[in-house]
Amino acid sequence: MLARIRTVTEHYSHCVLKELHREELAWLLSPRGHMPLLASHRAGMIVSRVRLWAMLFAVLTPLWIVVDLAVFAWPLWGILAAERLLASLAFAALAFYFRGDRHMRQAYLALILLFSIPTAFFVASYSLVGPLELDGASRAVALGYTFLPFVVLAGLSIFPLTLLEGVLFSLPALLGTWVAAVWVCDCADQYSLVGMFWLLGLIGVVATFSGMSQLGFMIALVRQAVRDVLTGSFTRSSGSELLDIQHILSSRNNTPLTVAFLDIDDFKAINDNFGHEAGDKVIADVACRIRANLRTGDMLVRWGGEEFLLIFPNTDMGHARLALRRVLDEGLGPRPDGAPVTASIGMAERLADAVEGWQALVEQADRRMYEAKRSGKNRVVAPGMTFIALEGCPA
Ligand code: GH3
Ligand code: MG
Ligand code: MG
Repeated sequence: MLARIRTVTEHYSHCVLKELHREELAWLLSPRGHMPLLASHRAGMIVSRVRLWAMLFAVLTPLWIVVDLAVFAWPLWGILAAERLLASLAFAALAFYFRGDRHMRQAYLALILLFSIPTAFFVASYSLVGPLELDGASRAVALGYTFLPFVVLAGLSIFPLTLLEGVLFSLPALLGTWVAAVWVCDCADQYSLVGMFWLLGLIGVVATFSGMSQLGFMIALVRQAVRDVLTGSFTRSSGSELLDIQHILSSRNNTPLTVAFLDIDDFKAINDNFGHEAGDKVIADVACRIRANLRTGDMLVRWGGEEFLLIFPNTDMGHARLALRRVLDEGLGPRPDGAPVTASIGMAERLADAVEGWQALVEQADRRMYEAKRSGKNRVVAPGMTFIALEGCPA
């Protein structure tokens, strides 16, 4: 029964969210399992939008001092002005000094800082303005202060967030309102409190869905941008980004990182004898077979026409050789004349080869691939050893 409900739910959500693949739907709910490229693009976008928001509010917040001055008596407008200037300074500092390294941890920190400024300002200002008995223009302006949490919650909608993140980031605004209205000034009656939280909740839900829909588009765009159309493997540019991320992680944690550079042997002859389309089919088939036999977490990048890069994160040379052996044992598919496709492969590992930067790591693997070509093709050249790639095939 549960399985049936799940299938029906998945079917309908898939129909509604057409641009997403079935397995990507869970990514809208929580950030667990997001592919590293999505996470880094999302983090970059969140941080840049936080800075934009902060810049806008750094300018807008002090402008309202003129209105406060016109409707409130001294020293109230003076205290409010001081609070506004403080908030504006905090916004400006966030806009100019926050530097994210395209990591979600930085994006969360930026969001927490962004939302804590107006929430703190709200608690401070509402505790002054809320309890006052006012009328006319000053009443209208004082009412404006109660709207601040609504603005904060609505602001959530500009960020590509998951459901879980939307709920968690709504909580400070709700909590801030609760603290200000109930504990600090005790100035709202039960009914207006219920109404206020009802509306806040509603705006939080709408903003969260808007954030999720932005995330949905982002997932689809990142997928299209990072995948090569012919083979479905990562493109060279997204592969470079992946390598950059993996290299940073590997250097930071002092863990191994192995790559294998693969070039199909005598590929030009396929194009020459059977046409370009037959050649394309072979390239797509090779990629499909490699991906099917790679472990989860290992990645395949189409580096050039019939050249691929296999990335084995957190894997030393010995284990990467075993993983590659498993891939090769399943074969790379047939050439149009029925003979097996063979390839020459060079391997390199960050620690064992003592190279600086991912580019140097790829160059090392590329040099070994050429060594494999020179010494007869259909072989793997790894540090200190060479072995036949596909047994029973001409080398
Ligand atoms: P080697 O064993 O030395 O690698 O010989 P090779 O014939 O494979 O030589 P090379 O790697 O230099 O040749 C690559 C050829 O792949 C040249 C180019 O015409 C062809 N090629 C590159 N991209 C594509 C593509 O997307 N589709 C097809 N069909 N052919 C491509
Ligand atoms: Mg080549
Ligand atoms: Mg080749």
